[in-house]
Amino acid sequence: MANFSAAERPSFIQKLEKETFDLLIIGGGITGAGIALDAVSRGLTVALVEKHDFGAGTSSRSTKLIHGGLRYLKQLEFGIVREVGRERTILYKNAPHVVIPEKMLLPIIKGGSLGKKSTSLGLFVYDLLAGVKRSERRYMLNKEETLQKEPLLKNDILLGGGMYIEYRSDDARLVIEVMKTAFNKGATCLNYASCEQLSYNQEGKISGAIIKDTLQNRTFEIKAKNIINACGPWVDTIRGIDNSLKGKRLHLTKGVHVVIPKRRLPIQQSVYFDIPKDGRMMFAIPRGEVVYLGTTDTNYKQNINKPFADINDVEYVLSATNFMFPDAQLERKDVLSSWAGLRPLIHEDGKSPSDLSRKDEIFISDTGLISIAGGKLTGFRKMAQRSVDVVCKNLQNEGRKFKKCSTHHIPLSGGEGLDGEAGVAKLVEDLSVRFNSIAKDKITELVGKFGSNTEIILKDAVEKYLDHPNNVLIAEASYCLNHEMTNSIGDFLVRRTGRLYFERPSIEVELTPLTEFFKNTLQYSEDMSSKFDKDFMEEYKGVINF
Ligand code: FAD
Repeated sequence: MANFSAAERPSFIQKLEKETFDLLIIGGGITGAGIALDAVSRGLTVALVEKHDFGAGTSSRSTKLIHGGLRYLKQLEFGIVREVGRERTILYKNAPHVVIPEKMLLPIIKGGSLGKKSTSLGLFVYDLLAGVKRSERRYMLNKEETLQKEPLLKNDILLGGGMYIEYRSDDARLVIEVMKTAFNKGATCLNYASCEQLSYNQEGKISGAIIKDTLQNRTFEIKAKNIINACGPWVDTIRGIDNSLKGKRLHLTKGVHVVIPKRRLPIQQSVYFDIPKDGRMMFAIPRGEVVYLGTTDTNYKQNINKPFADINDVEYVLSATNFMFPDAQLERKDVLSSWAGLRPLIHEDGKSPSDLSRKDEIFISDTGLISIAGGKLTGFRKMAQRSVDVVCKNLQNEGRKFKKCSTHHIPLSGGEGLDGEAGVAKLVEDLSVRFNSIAKDKITELVGKFGSNTEIILKDAVEKYLDHPNNVLIAEASYCLNHEMTNSIGDFLVRRTGRLYFERPSIEVELTPLTEFFKNTLQYSEDMSSKFDKDFMEEYKGVINF
């Protein structure tokens, strides 16, 4: 079987041109990836196209939490709390290398949106509905205990706190692990392949799509019996191409996160805190040597393809953080990086961005185009199940039978054989013994990204690339290129490894050896190489350009 490698593109395109698929998915974010895995594991033939890189849309720009659904409790959406709570448990079981339990402190303040009793009751109901295991249930703290946990909190308004568990992820890594799993089961997934037009049969029903391979600048047709539009913020663009943009529409809101050095806000755990001036809440989440802060929630009507943080977003986030952690006195010059994402929400008249529901919805047009919008990273598996149920029903009309959804039992790539946190720790120990020339911290970092696949990287580092001065880095890049469809330096530094967001200063040192490796290995034309370099530099500068 072919690798999920950039070098295999021509053979994937050949297959896409030749077959008629049961299902074509447009959009390679978490929604599309989840649908591909669900459908292929039920026995459908599946194709997926993504116009940029996998996860390049909203799915690499979120708060990166696998939520238990606390915010839904505030809106009394009990069904969603139950569903996302269960989903969180399933994801942790299937991919413990990228879904990690994270202690979260919820400070209770004078004038805040939550009182002591309501927080205690709320978190209790949340534990119950979300099926939180006993060892991870909430406990309440008085003011002194809260300050002990987090001495930097604003003392004069603090009343106490609640401690509970959220799960931290890396959204873009989650997308690629789901995509790889779908590919390993037989789905044909292609990035840098944009849907430009839809094709229809004589009855006016959807029968395929015209795709542009943006790396080779040529178009081809994929024939499919069903098409799901999983384009996130671009869902309405595809509905427009289908001439079916009527009734409910998307409402895009922008959410920004900023990254600061941890020494400027040395918090002990993640904190989910009130912003009294507008009644919203914000996260401060430590990750390695940095802390990321966010998010904003503002209506968005500019260019969907390139959302960036602007100075107003950054000042809002810094001022809310300075209010809750007054000694930090964060300034614009502390910002190391940032990202901005667009929430593809469903419009409801008269509602403010923060009040719009995060529920997902499926629309089916007269031509048969199935569009799925709304939802959350956390709920992607159930969104996939609901969408594929629709497709299976269509195909069953042809007399075919399919298996039921089984994705709750499918370990994601890198998660195979790992039993929770203990399994991940054991893997790190084993690899550190076997590859003792490589620092244990580095192995821990790699396992947190690639799980059980780290072994392939370490082997290459000590065998194939031993003589290279950056052997581990190049082995990591080589894995991403040969097993994760990485086509450019931007794919690697932004989505496969998150370095642009969390380790931006390290890029200065790594850029030259990486650029050389990508150029030599991928052998793109000069034009294509300089386009990729230019695109990356635009992002590299854009994340601190305010
Ligand atoms: P996307 O990830 O945007 O994917 C759509 C894809 O379609 C894109 O990659 C795009 O390039 C592609 N595409 C578009 N047009 C075409 C075309 N013509 N041809 C081919 N491909 C095309 N959820 C959580 O559970 N936890 C969180 O902590 C969380 N935090 C969030 C914070 C912010 C600021 C935001 C904005 C969202 C957050 N969410 C969170 C929500 C979550 O990120 C989104 O619901 C989810 O990522 C949407 O995924 P998607 O696949 O539907 O869309």
